[in-house]
Amino acid sequence: MADGCLTSCEQGDVTSRWAREVDEYLETSVPGVYAMGDIKGGPAFTHLSYDDYRILRANLVRHEKASTRDRIVPYTMFIDPQLGRAAIFTHPLLAEGLNTLFAIFDA
Ligand SMILES: Cc1cc2nc3c(=O)[nH]c(=O)nc-3n(C[C@H](O)[C@H](O)[C@H](O)COP(=O)(O)OP(=O)(O)OC[C@H]3O[C@@H](n4cnc5c(N)ncnc54)[C@H](O)[C@@H]3O)c2cc1C
Repeated sequence: MADGCLTSCEQGDVTSRWAREVDEYLETSVPGVYAMGDIKGGPAFTHLSYDDYRILRANLVRHEKASTRDRIVPYTMFIDPQLGRAAIFTHPLLAEGLNTLFAIFDA
């Protein structure tokens, strides 16, 4: 862990700083220190935490350039049947004239 982080930890302000200052590559304001999952702030979803892991794996292990930019944030309500959403609501899709397939299931 970088010395800068240790200093920040001692100051007790790491979480609040990270939540505001993580960039699209999940790097904190302390160079070489990254945050993923809930601690980085933003929507708190399991699949986002996992996607954060994929980004860091891509960049730190595979030396790629993955980022959170333009990431679609789907969510699902675990009811029966499940209710899911994938980033864009119905009306904007229609307004943009996108070719869209909708599926409606009887409850
Ligand atoms: C009630 C509830 C319902 C939820 N429902 C959903 C849902 O339906 N769908 C969905 O996508 N998301 C849901 N979430 C959100 C989801 O659980 C989180 O977004 C996800 O778990 C975040 O993963 P994480 O790895 O960032 O953090 P966590 O899963 O919180 O993991 C952090 C880990 O770090 C450990 N830890 C903490 N401090 C230390 C320390 N000092 N040293 C060592 N270890 C430490 C903790 O024990 C924990 O195991 C829900 C959350 C809650 C609370």
